[in-house]
Amino acid sequence: MALSGLDIFKLLPKTNCGDCGVPTCMAFAMKLAQKKAELSECPHASEEAKATLGAASEPPIRLVKIGGANAFEAGNETVMFRHEKTFFHQTGIAIQLNTSEDKDKILKKIKEIENYQVERVGEELKTDLLYISHNSKKAEDFAETIRLVKQNSTKGIILDCLDEEVLKEGLALLKDDRPAVLLRKEISDNDIEIAKEYDISLILTAQSLEALANQAEKARNMGVSNLILNLESENVGQQLQNNTILRRSALKANFKPFGYPLFAYINAENEFDRLARISILLCKYGSIIALPDHDKAMLYALFTLRQNIYTDPQKPIQVDPKVYPIGEPTPESPVFLTTNFSLTYFIVSGEIENSGTSAHLVVADTEGQSVLTAWAAGKFVGETVAKFIKQIKLEEKIKTRKIVIPGLVAQISGDLEENLPGWEVIVGCQEAADIPSFVKQVNLT
Ligand code: SF4
Repeated sequence: MALSGLDIFKLLPKTNCGDCGVPTCMAFAMKLAQKKAELSECPHASEEAKATLGAASEPPIRLVKIGGANAFEAGNETVMFRHEKTFFHQTGIAIQLNTSEDKDKILKKIKEIENYQVERVGEELKTDLLYISHNSKKAEDFAETIRLVKQNSTKGIILDCLDEEVLKEGLALLKDDRPAVLLRKEISDNDIEIAKEYDISLILTAQSLEALANQAEKARNMGVSNLILNLESENVGQQLQNNTILRRSALKANFKPFGYPLFAYINAENEFDRLARISILLCKYGSIIALPDHDKAMLYALFTLRQNIYTDPQKPIQVDPKVYPIGEPTPESPVFLTTNFSLTYFIVSGEIENSGTSAHLVVADTEGQSVLTAWAAGKFVGETVAKFIKQIKLEEKIKTRKIVIPGLVAQISGDLEENLPGWEVIVGCQEAADIPSFVKQVNLT
C-alpha cells in the first residue's frame, strides 16, 4: 500500500538540513509520496527508513539516463494519459549506425544527424541517441565506429554487439558516457557483471510478457536496476496492446519488473507502415524508438507529433508578452496584435515576415492561450489589451496610431478603441495565412 507523506516523514531524520535539494524533511516526504523523488536523494536516511521506504518510495517507472553530461532521460512517468497530468520525458529517437558500413559513410551519416534540427514554436527538435549495431565481421570496426561517434557527437549511445569481448573493448572507450547495451538474447550472469562494472543500462529483449518479467526480476535481484524493456511484437496492434499492459502493470498494479522505460526498433519495409508504427509508439508509451535510417521527411513529421504529445497540457508553450520587431520596423511601421501562445506568435510573425512588411507585433499576456480561447476566458478583451499597451508604453516608442487586431476577435474593436483614445483599431484577417494579401489591400499606417 502506498505510504502517505506523513508516514514517510516519520521515518526521515527531521533535521531539515536541505541536502536533498528541498528545505525541509516534510517537503521531501511529500515529494517521495508523490513519487517525484527517490529516497537515495537524502544522504542521511537510516537503514530502517531505507528498508521500509525503499520499494514504496521508488517511482513506478524508473528514471534511466543514457549519456554523460546532458544525458538523455527516459521513465519517471506517473500517468496513463497525458491529460491526467503530463508525460515527463518525451520519446527518444535513436538512429542506427552499422559497423559494417564504410567509415566515410558512417561519418557522413553522423554529421547529417548532428546537423539536422528543426525549430518549431521556439523549441529545437532533434534526434536524441545513436544506436551502434555491430554487424561487421571485423571486430575492430566496433571500436572504430564508437571513436567516430565520440569525436563527432555528444548524443547518448546504445550498443548492440553479440561478442562479449568486443563489447567490453567498446565499453572501455565510453567510461563516462553511461551507454545502454541492447541484449538480444536472455540476460546472463555475465551481462549483469558487465552492467555493474561499466555502469551501463541494459535493454532486455523478450518475446513474451512472462519472459520479460523473469529477466527484469533476475537483473533486479542481482543488483542491476537501470533497465529498459524491449518486448518484441509481431505487429503494431500487438505492440500497442503490450505497451499498454506494461505501462498499466507498472502504474496501476505497481508491478516492479515492468516499471522501466520501453524500447523498440522499428524497421518495417514499407515506409507508411513504419511511420504508423512509430506514431503509435510515440503516443503510447515508447520511451526510445530506434530507426534504421536518418530520413529527414519522416523525422520532421515525428518531431511535430512528439512535441504535441509531450508538451505539458497544464502549461501552454508561451512567448514573453512584449512588442516584437518583425523585420526592421521604424516608428511609422504598422502595429499588429496577437496573444502569447507560442504557436500563434510564430505563425503570425512568420506571415508578417512573408508579407515583406516590417512591423511591430504586440504580443499580449494571455497566459499562453490562443486568440479565441483567451477571448472566451476574458483575457483578450479591449480593456486588458489597452491596459497592456499602456503598461509597455507603446505610444512613447512609435508614432503609428493604428493597430490591427485578429479578425477572430472583431468584437473587441469597439471596446479597445474606447480604452485607447487616439487609436484606430483595424480588424484584420481571420487566418494568419491571409496576412500577406491583407497588408497589400489595407492602409495600415
Ligand atoms: S536531506 Fe534528509 S534529513 Fe536533510 S532535509 Fe532532506 S530529508 Fe531531511
